[in-house]
Amino acid sequence: MKLPDPQAAPMVPMRYRVIDQRRETRDTVTLTSIPDADVVALDRARPGQFHMLSAFGVGEVPISVSGIGRDGSLEHTVRAVGGNTEALNALGAGDAVGVRGPFGTHWNVDRAAGMDVVVMAGGIGLAPLRPLIQLLIEQRDENRSVQLLVGARRSSELCFTSDLATWSAVPGVDVTVTVDSAPRGWDGHVGVVTNLVDGLDLDAGRTVAFVCGPEVMMRFSARSLIDFGLRPERVQLSAERNMKCAIAHCGHCQYGPHLICRDGPVFDYPELAQLMEVREL
Ligand SMILES: Cc1cc2nc3c(=O)[nH]c(=O)nc-3n(C[C@H](O)[C@H](O)[C@H](O)COP(=O)(O)OP(=O)(O)OC[C@H]3O[C@@H](n4cnc5c(N)ncnc54)[C@H](O)[C@@H]3O)c2cc1C
Repeated sequence: MKLPDPQAAPMVPMRYRVIDQRRETRDTVTLTSIPDADVVALDRARPGQFHMLSAFGVGEVPISVSGIGRDGSLEHTVRAVGGNTEALNALGAGDAVGVRGPFGTHWNVDRAAGMDVVVMAGGIGLAPLRPLIQLLIEQRDENRSVQLLVGARRSSELCFTSDLATWSAVPGVDVTVTVDSAPRGWDGHVGVVTNLVDGLDLDAGRTVAFVCGPEVMMRFSARSLIDFGLRPERVQLSAERNMKCAIAHCGHCQYGPHLICRDGPVFDYPELAQLMEVREL
């Protein structure tokens, strides 16, 4: 059977096969998948973009790409919060998963050329930032410092712990982790991730920032970075809204004048600054 070209049929999920499932935390897994033999592989995703993932027979949800393999494999990190994400969470090696995309805007990594970089992640917000961090490390620039600030509610809710250890060993990369509440024996930082901004040893005038996490965390992170001296247009954020079509037809993901699937998820902070001040929008 001839399967549709994903470019011509962006609403048709391509059948991918899960080849690995790695548990990150109690409710979060990372799935690695590859296209089935008779399927046209999707276009290469860029860090910050997302796919619509379907657990067949259950439904479809937007999930950011958390890893982009050179061999066409994809990684997605899924936190179980409801029916669809629970079904995706339950997939294991050999299971089929539907994938559409990639969709949306990506982290503008070109803006980091010749600049220092702050990456701020809250909880599972580290997932869309992970391929960006990998790219920054790949394109390593000896004159550049990359400061990674990671926050989680508890140490047991930290994702990608082995990556954090690997990244912190890379020259020029600093990883600081903080938790809202610490277990006995925790000797790291305690408190919200925004508290770490004041301790940054960077020239704010030549620094760009990439931020992803719960909306309240992004709002306070952007404000702290700007108070620290970053120019607002040098702060990029990734926004989330409930989504259905992902191709700017249904309007489900409207956020003020924006459709998150088309104009986002990655925005420059000034595009969202006013909207983010409106509660419950
Ligand atoms: C661009 C984009 C990228 C995303 N990337 C990831 C990712 O990498 N990993 C991941 O685990 N999740 C990600 N999400 C969120 C994920 O899509 C939702 O958790 C999922 O749609 C919930 O569906 P469900 O059927 O499991 O739960 P539902 O029963 O639909 O929802 C459970 C609860 O979560 C709330 N909710 C649902 N969707 C959202 C949303 N988008 N934002 C805020 N609250 C929501 C509902 O209001 C409800 O309270 C992303 C969302 C978007 C828009």
